[in-house]
Amino acid sequence: VRRRGGRGDEEKGEEEEEEEQEEVLPAETSLLNKLIRTSLVESCHDVEILQRDPNSPLYSIRSFEELPLKKELLKGIYMMGFNRPSKIQETALPMMLAYPPQNLIAQSQSGTGKTAAFVLAMLSRVNATEKYPQCLCLAPTYELALQIGNVMESIGRFCADIRLTYAVRGNRVPQGTVLKEQIIIGTPGTMLDWCFKQKVVDLKKITLFVLDEADIMIDTQGLAGQSIRIQRALPKSCQMLLFSATFKATVREFAERIVSNPIMIMLREDELTLSNIRQYFFVCRSREEKYEALCNIYGSITIGQAMIFCQTRRSADWLAVAMTQDGHQVAILTAELTVAHRANVIQRFRSGKEKVLIATNVCARGIDVQQVTIVVNFSLPTNLQGEPDFETYLHRIGRTGRFGKSGIAFSMVESQDVALVEMIEEHFRAHGRAWQGTREPDTP
Ligand code: ADP
Repeated sequence: VRRRGGRGDEEKGEEEEEEEQEEVLPAETSLLNKLIRTSLVESCHDVEILQRDPNSPLYSIRSFEELPLKKELLKGIYMMGFNRPSKIQETALPMMLAYPPQNLIAQSQSGTGKTAAFVLAMLSRVNATEKYPQCLCLAPTYELALQIGNVMESIGRFCADIRLTYAVRGNRVPQGTVLKEQIIIGTPGTMLDWCFKQKVVDLKKITLFVLDEADIMIDTQGLAGQSIRIQRALPKSCQMLLFSATFKATVREFAERIVSNPIMIMLREDELTLSNIRQYFFVCRSREEKYEALCNIYGSITIGQAMIFCQTRRSADWLAVAMTQDGHQVAILTAELTVAHRANVIQRFRSGKEKVLIATNVCARGIDVQQVTIVVNFSLPTNLQGEPDFETYLHRIGRTGRFGKSGIAFSMVESQDVALVEMIEEHFRAHGRAWQGTREPDTP
């Protein structure tokens, strides 16, 4: 239970209750980022090869023309506006398209071009003249499966003979159905059903198996086990490709169970830094005083675009109402909105329709809002023990050095929480992240 002093017990109790209700699943955050993303996420690092088959040649490519791709696919790639392969694609694509086929485990942060890469591999590997399932692709949720399908329809728009179907809830296939589609994208549960219960897929004929978002799969009850059951029934010669945005030990173990003798590649994420961020802390006595402080800086926050983070949905709602009543135009992002609705809120904010976006901690975690210039912590992020949540703090206000963008962060702290500011300051100094904080003893 989060412990924060200084407020009436009644209010605290309600906030805690509120907080427990708000939950954002990792699959939702992933989908949201896909929906709002308009371009590649770049990294200044090079792709690292962690493990490789010493017998297979290894090379990377600089242009799509160097790959053994059909002309329909090249045309599709250029129609997408892709001029050259992304960093992960430069290394992964030649391996994925090699003969004899190679197994691959690839990790890179979301937005770096993994989906486009394996979609190309699937479209490239299938034999379009044969009308039966040849490629299986697993994703953690219905929406993520459909999202992959959308990418496939776009890149493969000139591949008239290739057909795709979805093994997802609601898409029923009675026993005895003869599937003519070469590619099936689906969730593990329904795919398992199609393969073993309805028996509409002959697993012996599958030549390419793709598992996407492995880190989300292992965090979601049952999906990892179902994926392994499908994978076990595939022929030894079937090519296996696995992708993940993160690569903690559990993901790596799972990946190695799914993919035998893999080449393993990863692309490091650019480090976030605080060196070009000015950080201000305002010590306030109450929520109302925080609001006053916020209003005083409002003029400066609306020069750029600002994001205001609140600890709970209740305080986000309270703040949105207060600001709206005072004539400000604000957008609000909370977890009870559907993912599509949240994507819409973010897109409007990105296009400048609203200058201020109020979000709850939980809801904003992991969302890509790089272009924001000003961040306001209406309260500092803390963990369940009431200690500062350094990682969240860094993610909210940090920037990658690469883009060299500067920013300003304002944090409101109640008098009894001043120690948190000291802990944050000390933490980032100790971790060598350049610190540029200024502590204001009073409200502005
Ligand atoms: P990931 O699967 O790693 O999250 P995606 O394949 O979805 O990444 O790609 C992220 C974004 O970049 C998408 O909008 C996609 O259309 C775009 N993209 C992918 N590959 C390229 C490329 N080679 N050049 C330009 N844009 C690309």
